[in-house]
Amino acid sequence: LSQKIASQAEAPSTTQDGCDMTLLVNAGLSADLEMDNNKEGAGVGLYRTEIPFMLRERFPSEQEQYELYRAMLNAHPEKEMTMRTLDVGGDKPLSYFPINEENPFLGWRGIRLTLDHPDIFLVQVRAMLRASIGLHNLHILLPMISTLNEIDDAKRLIKQAFHEVKEEAVQANQELFKPAIGVMLEVPAVIFQLEQIAEKVDFFSVGTNDLTQYLLAVDRNNSRVSSLYSSYHPSVLLALNHIMKSAEVSGTPITVCGELAGEPTGALILMAMGYRKLSMNAHSLRKINWVIRNVSVAELENLLADILGCCGPENVKEIVDEYLESKG
Ligand code: PEP
Ligand code: MG
Repeated sequence: LSQKIASQAEAPSTTQDGCDMTLLVNAGLSADLEMDNNKEGAGVGLYRTEIPFMLRERFPSEQEQYELYRAMLNAHPEKEMTMRTLDVGGDKPLSYFPINEENPFLGWRGIRLTLDHPDIFLVQVRAMLRASIGLHNLHILLPMISTLNEIDDAKRLIKQAFHEVKEEAVQANQELFKPAIGVMLEVPAVIFQLEQIAEKVDFFSVGTNDLTQYLLAVDRNNSRVSSLYSSYHPSVLLALNHIMKSAEVSGTPITVCGELAGEPTGALILMAMGYRKLSMNAHSLRKINWVIRNVSVAELENLLADILGCCGPENVKEIVDEYLESKG
């Protein structure tokens, strides 16, 4: 099987009934390497910028960040590059910026921390924008959004940074394009405000890892409750289905960048719901590409009502596995 998968790795991600899927890669520090594995892929759907921050002993300077981001944007200037602003806190500690909280996952994480420290946010966004001078592939993604105000505040800071960098670019006779700005959908509260959020952003990216954790009230890293943590819980799937429908209505481009997108069963369910852009770890790309090429979206759509009506994750997996087996 793995030989079969490898031989088709560079083939287009098109289903048997002609539906084109876009596969993107999730990147961290070894971004260059991951891009190499994605020669035929459509770009980076999630660059976790906190990883290089976590591997250092102090905050990287604007220049250091600029160099990192420039290399990424430049590697494939024609491909989408989605850079998420710093998402530390929760399970992602910075040794040089300790946070002690009783409930770190409900605490000072992601956008909450960077909006309280606009200096950190501005330096990072300036570095991203400077790195994008002359290029038009930068997408900026905001993590852990739970209120509309956070989007407004972050956009205001991005605008400020944009004007500063634009001035530099103009003086150097270079062009600075406006980046697309999107939000992570990973806090359940946003599910009920999608229409209003859509008016404020250019794209959505669904973080199924955190969305699952917060919907089910199950710590994603606690082994005592790991049997309860499942993105195949019908409530999680109903939420994902609702999100997709809402994105369709508002016409908002949407990607899924949580782990679910890199699992064959998860990818198929997402396709049945209408998701067409999936971002995953580089090592999942070939497998998911192969699965896509061997299924039909029309058939998957026929399974959706049964999937969403399941009592629990086991039944969901049974339905999809049975389908996959029928496809050989
Ligand atoms: C997620 O929460 O699903 C996600 C993609 O982000 P992270 O795993 O980095 O929190
Ligand atoms: Mg997350």
